[in-house]
This record gives sequence, structure tokens and C-alpha cells, in this order.
Amino acid sequence: MANRVIPAAQRLLKTLRPLNSASSTTISGVSPITFREKAQPEAEEELLLPPLDGHHPKAAEALFNLDDENNRLFASVPTLKLLRAAANLHMVAMEPMVDVGMWMMRSRLMTTPGVKDVILGFIRSTFYEHFCAGEDTVATGESVRALNEAGLRGMLVYALEYASDNESCDRNLQGFLDTVESTKSLPRSSVSFIILKITAICPMKLLQRVSDLLRWQQKDPSFNLPWKHETLPIFSESSPLYHTMEKPEPLTPEEERDLELVHQRLQRLSERCVEANVPLSVDAEYTSIQPSIDYLTYASAIKHNKGDNPIVYGTIQAYLKDAKERLLLASKAADKMGIPMGFKVVRGAYMSCESKIASALGYDSPIHNSIEETHACYNECASYMLERIGNGSGAVVLATHNVESGKLAVKKAHEIGISKVHQKLEFAQLYGMAEALSFGLKDAGFQVSKYMPFGPIELVMPYLLRRAEENRGLLSASTLDRNLTREELKRRLKAAIF
Ligand SMILES: Cc1cc2nc3c(=O)[nH]c(=O)nc-3n(C[C@H](O)[C@H](O)[C@H](O)COP(=O)(O)OP(=O)(O)OC[C@H]3O[C@@H](n4cnc5c(N)ncnc54)[C@H](O)[C@@H]3O)c2cc1C
Repeated sequence: MANRVIPAAQRLLKTLRPLNSASSTTISGVSPITFREKAQPEAEEELLLPPLDGHHPKAAEALFNLDDENNRLFASVPTLKLLRAAANLHMVAMEPMVDVGMWMMRSRLMTTPGVKDVILGFIRSTFYEHFCAGEDTVATGESVRALNEAGLRGMLVYALEYASDNESCDRNLQGFLDTVESTKSLPRSSVSFIILKITAICPMKLLQRVSDLLRWQQKDPSFNLPWKHETLPIFSESSPLYHTMEKPEPLTPEEERDLELVHQRLQRLSERCVEANVPLSVDAEYTSIQPSIDYLTYASAIKHNKGDNPIVYGTIQAYLKDAKERLLLASKAADKMGIPMGFKVVRGAYMSCESKIASALGYDSPIHNSIEETHACYNECASYMLERIGNGSGAVVLATHNVESGKLAVKKAHEIGISKVHQKLEFAQLYGMAEALSFGLKDAGFQVSKYMPFGPIELVMPYLLRRAEENRGLLSASTLDRNLTREELKRRLKAAIF
């Protein structure tokens, strides 16, 4: 049987050194612009990888051996692009800079025409260019093609986040439908998912009301919800219910009608995804509204996930203490109903706000007490889903930049047999982050996607603020990126001088 060789990108991954010996190492890599520059394999340094259907956990570990200093991750990146990526990553890591930037973006300055244009111009040529795929479906299509040429896939994220009324929900829905339509002109399989934030097609107030009612029913199972569609379990025994302290009023006829409109919007979008044969992944958000997000997601999955083809995916945030129990309950219930259920597993992006709300209400945070517990929970959820897939059930997107989690999942996939999990397992990283990990996983034979937000800059702003929050500080997610780009630039400068 022929052995596969590790191409340059994968060998380059081996150059990355963990910054410390902690179990969590996050790699984020070069700017997305580098997708056009494919790394050339250097034959004399080729290493052997196991066949895709083999059981080679040792070789799988070797994929993430980060000790080799002789290869260079950024060898193929032009110096100018490397400088821009380095500047962007350094900027988002500077706490005072991020604080001022976030203050400016939220301040009244954004309503002063001249000043607003200057701020937006700066953001466009820095963070936006780094983390976003384009202003519209045409520009984004170009970015997807570039990714596809490099062997990666795109998750299309039309960056709409919040809607306040039915009119804006309908407008947003049209944006998502157009996004699905745009995939038809792109290379087959180059788009792995359409991403949806339910908050864009359901008014926030209604999501809160429905979540309150669902929580109350969890406290008191005799509490009748006449409007409720068939769904999967949304809570576990340990799920936090403190957001709803008093018995909520039933939905008014108008609210019931609005909720039905939300179901219809989701049905239309799901049907369009079935037609285009591209799955729809629903993002997870705050625990205050997550019950209604899960409810709507599962109700749609029950209708559209058929045979061996999960079309609608939910998201599990492993930083939540009840994450694993909920994953188990929902996936087992789906099995019983004969529904192929897909889940995206993430750690979670709303940590500071979750803790603040819980403490303001006098409750423990719903988030694991330590990051180690979050890591353990993530890895257990990933392992559980891989085993399920190995047994022919469901599908999973492992959305992470954490190298240790990637390594463990690769090992597990090899133990199960990659051919058994290949089609139903997708690794995913954010566009503009963790390029080395993405390429390493791709070269090891896995399907890998980049989460690609697109849309006019003002729409994408909440997303950019979350990225700024995530990458800020010396110990942030982009530390390794920054160090690697700096090292490579230093090396080039030396080479130019001597
Ligand atoms: C493709 C993709 C899709 C995503 N979709 C969603 C989504 O739908 N919803 C969502 O919320 N997020 C989403 N995210 C973001 C994700 O939740 C994480 O914020 C981000 O990926 C960083 O986590 P990590 O697994 O990459 O690894 P790491 O960088 O190793 O993990 C850091 C994360 O650990 C958690 N953490 C940090 N400190 C602690 C602590 N003391 N206790 C407990 N936990 C701690 C935080 O969540 C932090 O972001 C997505 C990410 C990707 C790549």
C-alpha cells in the first residue's frame, strides 16, 4: 500500500514550538492572503504518513510533533504579506490598543460622519482584511476559490447577528438564502457549511421569552407549551435555570404568530440547503437565549436530517458545565428517533459576559471553574462524537485552534479508522487564524474548513470585536502566531544582511 508523504505545510507545522508545556497550545497562523501561495514540498525532507484507513496513532501524533526547528512555517509567504499579518496580530494583542479601539467602535464617534469614515478605513485595511472573507458573495466566492485551491473548504458566515423585528428578520433571511444560492456557482464541496446565527432571523426579545418558557417547563414538566414543536432534549439535570426566576406569562397570540414565522424562516433556509446539498450549522450564543436556539435548531433538524445526511447542525459549547450531558441526551434522543444529528463542538466565545450575568444574579458561573476542565470537556465531547461516527451515527465539526485537542482527535480518528470517520468529520478554524493547524490537518487527510465571515464592515463589527477580545493580551490565542511571524521576519532580515 502506498504511503502518503507529508507536504511542506505539514512539515512546517512541525516547526511550531509550544510556548509552555501546558496541555493547551493554540496555534494561529499566517494571514489568509497566504492561501494563494502554496508551499512546495521539498523532496529530500519528506516524511512518511500512514495510509488513511490504517490504525497508526503514533504517526498521528507525529503530525503534531512540534520539535523540529529545521522547517519553516512561513517559507512561502512574501515578506510584505508577512509584515502585514504580523502587524495585525500584534495590534490585536496590545491591550491598551484593543481597549481604545473597542471604546471607539462603541462610542458616539461612530455617529460622526468624518471620524467614522477614518475609523472604518483603518479597520478595513487591518482587522477586516485579516479576519473577513469579503464585502459580498462575489468577493467571498473569490476567497473560497483561493481556499479550495489550497485544499481547504469554506464555512460561509453572512455576518448578520441581531434583528429586532419581523421586517429585519425577513431581510436577513434573504441574505442567507442568497448565500446558499451563491454556493451553486462555486466548485463542488468548496463550501462545507452555511452558518446561521438564529438571532438574525428571530427577534431577541422573542428568543428570551421562549427560553424563559422552556426553562420554566424544565422546572415544572406539567407547564404546558401548546406552540411547542417536536424537538430533542434541550436541558440536562444540571443546566442552569437561574435566568428565569418567576413563572413567565404564556406567549401572546402575536408572539405565537411571530414564533411560527421564525420556524418558517428556518424551514425555508433548511430546504434551500437540502436543495443545494450544503449543511446549515447554527451557532451557539448566550445561555440566556440558548434554549430557544437549540429548540429551533432541533425542530428543524428533525424535519430535514434524513437517512445518512445531517443537514441542520447544532452547536455545543464545551466551556459550559452541562455541555457533555446535553450532548449525550440530544444525540441519544436523535438516535431513538432515527435522526442523523450533526454537532459543531466549540469551547465557547461569550465567557466574560456569562460569568458577569451569573454573578449579578447571585449564581455560580455556568462555565467550568478552570480552563483545564473546559479542555477536558471539549476533548471528551470530541471523542464521544468520533466514537458515534465510527458506529455510523451522526456527524461532527471540531471547531478549535487548540493543538492538543486537534492531536487527540487525530489520534482517536486513527484508532477508529479514518475511512470510517472521514466523511462525517470536519475540522474548522477561523479565517485568519491557525493556518498551520488547518494545513497540517488537511495534509493528514482530514476535511478542514475555515469559518469565513463576510459582509459590509459595519455588519461584521460585533464579530471583529469578539476576535479583538479573544486575541488581546500577551497570553492570548494569537501569541504563537505573533512569535512565529516575528521569528521568520528576523530570519529574513538576517539573511538579507549577511
Ligand atoms: C469554526 C469555529 C466556529 C465557532 N463557532 C462558535 C459558536 O457557534 N459559538 C461560540 O460560542 N463560539 C464559537 N467559536 C469560538 C470558540 O468558542 C472559541 O472561542 C475559540 O475557538 C477559542 O477556543 P479554542 O478551542 O480554539 O481553543 P483555546 O484557545 O485553547 O481555548 C480558549 C477558550 O477556552 C475558554 N476558557 C478560557 N479560560 C477559561 C476558564 N478559566 N474557564 C473555562 N473556560 C475557559 C474560552 O472559551 C476561551 O475562548 C467558533 C470557533 C471556530 C473556530
